[in-house]
Amino acid sequence: MVGIEDEAIVLRAVDFGESDLIAHLLVPEVGRLTVIAKHARKSRKRFPGSLDVFNHIRVRVSRKRPDGLGFLEQALLLDPFLPLREVPARFALASYLVELMDRMAPEGGPEPDMRRLFDFVHSALVSLCQGHPDLCMRLFLELRAFDALGLRPGLERCVRCGSELAPGLVGFHIADGGGICDAHGAEGLSGVLRVHLGTLRALDASLGSRIDQLPRLRLEGQALAEAREILFRFHRFHLGFELKSERFLEESLGGPA
Ligand SMILES: [Zn+2]
Repeated sequence: MVGIEDEAIVLRAVDFGESDLIAHLLVPEVGRLTVIAKHARKSRKRFPGSLDVFNHIRVRVSRKRPDGLGFLEQALLLDPFLPLREVPARFALASYLVELMDRMAPEGGPEPDMRRLFDFVHSALVSLCQGHPDLCMRLFLELRAFDALGLRPGLERCVRCGSELAPGLVGFHIADGGGICDAHGAEGLSGVLRVHLGTLRALDASLGSRIDQLPRLRLEGQALAEAREILFRFHRFHLGFELKSERFLEESLGGPA
C-alpha cells in the first residue's frame, strides 16, 4: 500500500454510485490525483464540507499501486477560500483556473514541477480572494498557469533562432509558442499573429512580477486586445477545446468579444 499525506486543492468532485464521491485533487507531491471518498455522501461526518471545489485541505490517501486510484482516508479543511464564492468574477476566474488544471495538470510528474504547479494554484486562489479581477488579471493568470504547466511562451527572443526581436510589429508563432524575428516571419509560416513587441514585453514583465503585485500591472487598448488574442489562440492550440467555465468567465469579466 502506497500512502500520501500532503496538502491538496480540490479541482472537482462528482457523485459516484449511491454513496461515494470521486474527487480530483492537485497535490504538491504528485500533481493531479483522483481519489474515491467511500460513503462520503452517506456519512458527512467523515469529510465534513472538505471536498468542495477550491478547498485547500490536508489529505491522507492510500493507493494499492503507485499509479492507481487513491482511497481518501481523511480530509481536513485548511481553507475554504470563502471570498471566492462571494463575488461572481472571482468565482468565475477561480473556476476557470481549476478546470484548466483538472484538464492539463499531469498525474505523477516530477515533484519539484508539481510543487511549483501547486504553489501557483494556491497563490492564485489566495490573491483572487481579494479585489475584483478583470480581463487583464485573467490574461496574466492564464499566462502564469501555462508557465506553471511547463508551457511558457517565448516572449523575449525569436523561438526559431534566438535572435532579438526588433521593436514594432513582430510575429507570434502559435505552434512554436513564441515571438519570431523578421527573417523567420518572412518565410510565410501559417499560424502567425502580428503583435507589438511591447505586448510581449508586458506579458513577460507580468511573469516576472509577484502574483500579489499583478493588479498593479495594466494592459490597455491594443496591447490588451493582442494579449487576449495570443492567450486565446495559445489555449486553443494546447487544449483544442473550450472549457466549460469559459463562457461564464467571459460573461463575468466582460471585455472584447
Ligand atoms: Zn528567427
